[in-house]
Amino acid sequence: MCKETKCDVLCIQETHRTEVMKTPKIIGMKHVTSAYFTEENDIEILTIEMDKCTVTSIYKPPNAQFTFKKPPNFDAQKINFVIGDFNNHHTSWGYEETDENGHGVKKLRLPKPKIKRRKENENMGLGGTFLDIELEAAIKTLKNGKAAGRDDMCTEQIRHFGNRTKRWLLDLFNNIRDTLKLPKVWRKSKIIALLKPGKNPDLPSSYRPVSLLCHTYKLYERILLNRLGPAIDEKLVKEQAGFRPDDAAIAVQDNNFETIEEKLTNVLEHTSKYYTSNHLKPNPNKTLFCAFHLRNREANRKLEITWEEDIKGWIEPAEHLPSGHELQWHVWKTLNQLRVGVGRSKDNMLKWGYLNDQETSCHCGTIQTMAHLLVCPLAPGLCTLEDLTNANQKAMDVAQYWANENI
Ligand SMILES: [Zn+2]
Repeated sequence: MCKETKCDVLCIQETHRTEVMKTPKIIGMKHVTSAYFTEENDIEILTIEMDKCTVTSIYKPPNAQFTFKKPPNFDAQKINFVIGDFNNHHTSWGYEETDENGHGVKKLRLPKPKIKRRKENENMGLGGTFLDIELEAAIKTLKNGKAAGRDDMCTEQIRHFGNRTKRWLLDLFNNIRDTLKLPKVWRKSKIIALLKPGKNPDLPSSYRPVSLLCHTYKLYERILLNRLGPAIDEKLVKEQAGFRPDDAAIAVQDNNFETIEEKLTNVLEHTSKYYTSNHLKPNPNKTLFCAFHLRNREANRKLEITWEEDIKGWIEPAEHLPSGHELQWHVWKTLNQLRVGVGRSKDNMLKWGYLNDQETSCHCGTIQTMAHLLVCPLAPGLCTLEDLTNANQKAMDVAQYWANENI
């Protein structure tokens, strides 16, 4: 504010109101846009609103119980200064003791300003009126020969609707969009029981229940899906293969690359059989694969998998190991234990019940905590957490030393 108004010193004037003048007024006060106050328990809270901020002054008489009641313009600006004559004590502001009202003021959590929503930016334009072409596209996806729901309407009938009926249906859909109310019949389903093949028809458990919904409802869902699908799809990361049309994800876990490669190759071979028997065409060219580190010395190894012809896509893993992964396994493990501060230091071994009270000293004589390992005079040098993060020479020397000491 000083910068904007080109002033060097901002003076804040404490004013007292009088019976005749409820809101303060100082001649020449140019930046005040509103002034309101509250009064409760004799506590006077006055908020002055300016172009960019509000300044609130609180006056609490010595014997009053502290409460905070916001004046109506308190949240008018994002920046709020609160100053006051609170007449209370708290160690936080230099007193030797804290009194009850001091607690009250300390706990005063001023409400955060509300985020201003811009609704027009939130719907990505997906909420507009449904159009003829959307209805036509959805009708094309209906399959013949499907059982009707509670409205007894079959897909064949819908496919043969004339223009006036389609118009009526589209009006219904747009009405649902506006009112957010579904027809009651859509919320009911017709449940029929199908006998499982080769099962005893006398037992209820031999039947599989199928619930039939109205096709007009499914048509409405299809229109929504056609609209939302592309917008959602472009927001998803390409690594997500599950729950996407035409995509499948296969995850395999094991101790070594060779087994993983064998397992994946076998699964893909099975997949080929599934594809062939369902008259589908597998597409190895569009298949991507990725490995997450199993053995650190093999962190950069790529999987070797075959599927019909070679698979071409390789995704670089999005996450990388912390630096130092090229170290020997046991040194790398110790380095990480030093980084996170959890490892087999003697005080931890005592805590975990592996040692007794007398054995917690390091060879240097100090109690051996994880923190001590970084400064122990017996280690080849000192190292800091930053050294550990960078896995520099100091950190590697220390990790090597403690790895040999079986930490
Ligand atoms: Zn030591």
